Amino acid sequence: MLIIGCHLSSSAGFLAMGKEATRIDADTFQFFTRNPRGGSAKPLNIKDIEAFEEYRKENGIVYPLAHAPYTLNACSKDEGLREFAKNTMADDISRLEYIDGAMYNFHPGSHVGQGEEAGIQYIADMLNCVLKPEQKTLVLLETMAGKGTEIGKSFTQLRSIIDKVKLNDKLGVCLDTCHVFDGGYDIVNNLDGVLQEFDEIIGLDRLKAIHLNDSMNFLGCRKDRHAKIGEGGIGIDAMAKIINHPELKHLPFYLETPNDSDGYKKEIKLLKRLYKI
Ligand code: FE
Ligand code: FE
Ligand code: ZN
Repeated sequence: MLIIGCHLSSSAGFLAMGKEATRIDADTFQFFTRNPRGGSAKPLNIKDIEAFEEYRKENGIVYPLAHAPYTLNACSKDEGLREFAKNTMADDISRLEYIDGAMYNFHPGSHVGQGEEAGIQYIADMLNCVLKPEQKTLVLLETMAGKGTEIGKSFTQLRSIIDKVKLNDKLGVCLDTCHVFDGGYDIVNNLDGVLQEFDEIIGLDRLKAIHLNDSMNFLGCRKDRHAKIGEGGIGIDAMAKIINHPELKHLPFYLETPNDSDGYKKEIKLLKRLYKI
């Protein structure tokens, strides 16, 4: 079975997201832990979480994926912002512990001119501070397009972060198809080769989620503009190969395409049709 969902608004709570997922035939969903531009999170609503846990058992909703705010930058130049990143991540993870099988995805960060090495060290420092041996939530590093000074544009950079983190059994990777394509990995003509490279450098056992997005631009453009499935540089044939690839087909796929909820419903239907059991 294809496990597919999309990004949903978290403003009405978990139960509402669960019901919306069902309405659009999704089996999973992604959500922001708080305003994507920053700010504090709403108080935990245990009643809502309990109702959601009950609901998802009956309706088969798996792997809720939280996305950290975009403003979280572990390798900012500003110590206050690095502190904000650390506190936000720690707080987000402590909340996710209430949700069964939840994962937490974040953009590794932008080194803003301090250099790749310094950036990677800051990211690892944050993770070494935040990750706890007893936590159940898996933290995912997202592959990035390499816009500006973004870290995470290459598999080697992600590997360096993982190697510097003590509790790296808590770390996984979320591969964003638009980002890797924009970052120069040819998933259209050489998907097997890209996955082999991922396996050699990071290990496919670390790959826990896929952000399924087409790209408005071309291979290696370093842009990060998502397109609807089949309407960008990646195209529908490559998308079908991605969801059916033997190394990927068991993973949860999350759409972050420019769509309203009916648009997502259509894309989910399309992808389920292209999935071979
Ligand atoms: Fe992201
Ligand atoms: Fe993404
Ligand atoms: Zn993106």
